[in-house]
Amino acid sequence: MIGKNISVDEILTQFNNRSKLSSLISKYVQLSPRGNSFVGKCPFHNEKTPSFNVNDDKGLFYCFGCKVGGNAITFISKYKNLSFSESIKFLADMLGIEISYENKEQLKKKNNKLFVYKLINDFFKKSLEKNKNALNYANLRIKNKQLISDFEIGFCPDDNELINFLKSEGLSIEEIQETDLLIKNRKNQFFGRFKDRLIFPIFSFSNKVVGFGGREINENSRIKYINSQESQIFKKSELLFGFKQNSEVIRKEKKIILVEGYMDVISLAQSEIRFAVASLGTTLSKTQIQKMWNYSDTPLICFDGDDAGRKSSKNIALKCLEFLVPGKSFKFIKLPEGFDPDTFLKKYSKKKFFELMQSSYNLSDLVWQIILESIDKPTPENIALLDQKIKLLSSKISNRIVSDEYFKFFIKKKNDYLWNLNLKKKKTVHTTEKVQELINEKLVLVFLIFEIELTRHFNEEVSEAILGNKDLNSFKDALFKRNIIEKKKIDLDYLVNNTEYSKQILAEIESLNKTHLKGLNIEEKRVLLRHILDNLKIPILKKEAAVIKKKILEAEDDEKQSAQVNKYNEILKEIKIIQNKELE
Ligand SMILES: [Zn+2]
Repeated sequence: MIGKNISVDEILTQFNNRSKLSSLISKYVQLSPRGNSFVGKCPFHNEKTPSFNVNDDKGLFYCFGCKVGGNAITFISKYKNLSFSESIKFLADMLGIEISYENKEQLKKKNNKLFVYKLINDFFKKSLEKNKNALNYANLRIKNKQLISDFEIGFCPDDNELINFLKSEGLSIEEIQETDLLIKNRKNQFFGRFKDRLIFPIFSFSNKVVGFGGREINENSRIKYINSQESQIFKKSELLFGFKQNSEVIRKEKKIILVEGYMDVISLAQSEIRFAVASLGTTLSKTQIQKMWNYSDTPLICFDGDDAGRKSSKNIALKCLEFLVPGKSFKFIKLPEGFDPDTFLKKYSKKKFFELMQSSYNLSDLVWQIILESIDKPTPENIALLDQKIKLLSSKISNRIVSDEYFKFFIKKKNDYLWNLNLKKKKTVHTTEKVQELINEKLVLVFLIFEIELTRHFNEEVSEAILGNKDLNSFKDALFKRNIIEKKKIDLDYLVNNTEYSKQILAEIESLNKTHLKGLNIEEKRVLLRHILDNLKIPILKKEAAVIKKKILEAEDDEKQSAQVNKYNEILKEIKIIQNKELE
């Protein structure tokens, strides 16, 4: 029969990875929070005052009235009147998981391994107390002794000591090999994977030791950190280091912060920040993401302030998109260059760290940054690429509502970006004067075609503006005459079909309208036209200044000269005003 051989532990681990007991039970019983648990009216006996308790920490429920209690499987089996295996199937279907059914032999091996790991963990803890060097090291790194016991930190002694211990527990050579703590080399000798390392036990979500992390304590050239190998019980993608030890605060404060390594979790704990966890790698799995979302709507990610850390943050950001649902996201803390949480807290303070948390940035902003970084100059081709990326990344989000909102957000960002680019270009007008002049000139035409009403407010200035390029200037005059004076509205289609103006210019105008005006509100458009017209004045004023300068030099008497100097200064002042406006 299906499910006959699945262990209770397996399904509960899967359940704990993805959900909470209170979420399950609240589908059937109205629960309200009380302290660290939930209470409600018992579904198994008639009562007026609630005596039915649900505890997520323990994954258990209990009724003080009728004394019924148990875990998720017990609840479903009693509530739905299902058999054990039917209950397991029900839970698996609800969680959308496929359970790999193990045969009895595998199951026995696994339960054995869990049992052996518990013994080994106790052995490591005792070994730390006995080894002065390791204990000194641990005390040096972890000043708060309570944390050494909270995190059950241990030490792996030399190979003989470990082998003797395992033998004394009755393990055969084969079983010793299966612990993954000792590896046989080519000469058929055992050597310890974690020998002489500080040990951080790694717990599953059902609070069982499923693996170990080892940190080098002699600071020699060996690898600093090593983990247990992936196995039937040690699946990195289903674990979060520190969750067991910090879960109380995580649940209470509904906060969770993901850091890179064990020592980061412990460093934060030393500063009394007890809501950190570490993934055992630089990526996140669906299970880990959903586990964190069970406790916080927006978990924080805090990776090291180096290239690798930033790259991992970006990978995680992209990875998360797929799973986004309304109301759930991530935020990213940016550590200063070269810092990790440990060094940051040592140099600064908890307060400063909380400030960083406050100023953490949104997932959507980080993803926008990733999109922007992927293009070089804002040529039409690259803007098209930008559009493509926006579509691609929004469509990665499988939730339709979130996906649509992301799309809108990116389009707004794109318009802001192009708008700022336009301003920035104008700030460096001296170096790119020629190119900029042309963009401004074409933008005047855009306004004359697409924003007639607004342009009418700048009537005189538009009429007086002289576009440096002859063709563009006569085009402007023609548009001004028809659209502003004669009020015969001419749209782009008419121009394309009925006039001699080159198709290329008209196409450019159409594209400029999309890249520069689309998405702006009327006020923003007004400011843009103001900037453009001011800018178009500069070359004219400069030309005028040059003429006056010549006159100053050629002046016949002081009086005439000083009059010209005044004029000259006036013009320079006007230019300066325009340029300063740009810099505002
Ligand atoms: Zn009851």
